[in-house]
Amino acid sequence: MERLPPPTEAEWRDWRWQLRNRITTADPLANYINLTAAEREEIERAGGEFRWAVTPYYAALMDPDDPSCPLRLQQVPSVQELTDELGSPDPLLEKSNSPVSAVVHVYPDRVAFKVTNVCPTYCRYCFREYFVGNVEEHHTREKVQEGIDYIRRAPAIRDVLITGGDPLLFSDERLEDLSSQLRSIEHVELIRAGSRTPYTLPQRITPELCELLSRFHPIWLNTHFNHPDEITDEAAAACDRLTRAGVPVGNQTVLLKGVNDSVEVMTELVHRLLAIRVRPYYIYQCQILSGTAHLRTTIEKGLEIIDGLRDHTTGFGVPTYVLDTPFGKVPLAPQYIAGRDGDGAATADVASYTSRDGR
Ligand SMILES: *Cc1c(COP(=O)(O)O)cnc(C)c1O
Repeated sequence: MERLPPPTEAEWRDWRWQLRNRITTADPLANYINLTAAEREEIERAGGEFRWAVTPYYAALMDPDDPSCPLRLQQVPSVQELTDELGSPDPLLEKSNSPVSAVVHVYPDRVAFKVTNVCPTYCRYCFREYFVGNVEEHHTREKVQEGIDYIRRAPAIRDVLITGGDPLLFSDERLEDLSSQLRSIEHVELIRAGSRTPYTLPQRITPELCELLSRFHPIWLNTHFNHPDEITDEAAAACDRLTRAGVPVGNQTVLLKGVNDSVEVMTELVHRLLAIRVRPYYIYQCQILSGTAHLRTTIEKGLEIIDGLRDHTTGFGVPTYVLDTPFGKVPLAPQYIAGRDGDGAATADVASYTSRDGR
């Protein structure tokens, strides 16, 4: 088996080294976790269906001996991906919501702008698997330009969500070009980025990048921690650099079976996010997406988690639980008004309030 020479400190802290040395086959992964022969075979079979890659940094956080480690479940291909009868490859019908190939336009005033299909690591539950990682390349300058021109021609768009893939895998130079073009459009009030780099490749959040972003404010960023073990010192420092540069950082979590489908894990996750000044924003119900049957759980489970957070933790630590659909996000919430079973302190008898007012 191939044993790599250990990287130097400086290499490990260099995001380009992390990307160049991404793990895409079982052999190098075995430098970080212990794989059974069966797992090796699974990786070869399932990893070939939907592209996979993991940064050495993230692989080093996995439990080497526990195949059900929540970080492994998110990133290491499983043969169970090949036996999902129900899932669709594009459950949000994004392709039919794309007026030009890089822009998903569902809401009147805001768009998702997919500037690349490359990511530092490929999540096994990626709802853009129809696109992400297929052919690994940033969108060409022409495709990105086509997206910018579309936004420029649509005065109703006031909020542009730069996504992908992972937009922070652009070079600083390309990010600067993209940001300054978007900023030159008068009706674009808000630029936000969706990026997993703060915890799969925290080395990417360099002081130079933060300085660059701070020149194009207001810029907001949403990242995607799913489990408290992902909040390492490095990830915390990356988020700190962003917030000090004036970039508010929010977090979107996907509810995944075996990863974070319990009140205990979600409570610890939101507490640790608040401690690093990252605001919990959404919990997404996992899409009926091909290859994810073993990771999906029920809406009842999600509601139970929200019920376990509401009143039991800081109000702004409770994210909104949503089901994304081709028509937009649908919030899912436990029933807090009269008639609800349960012991939530917020349960209110709306009828008695209105009758007391004499209405
Ligand atoms: C989620 C999403 C947005 C942003 O929605 P917010 O609720 O404002 O965060 C915009 N466009 C598309 C297509 C989306 O899926």
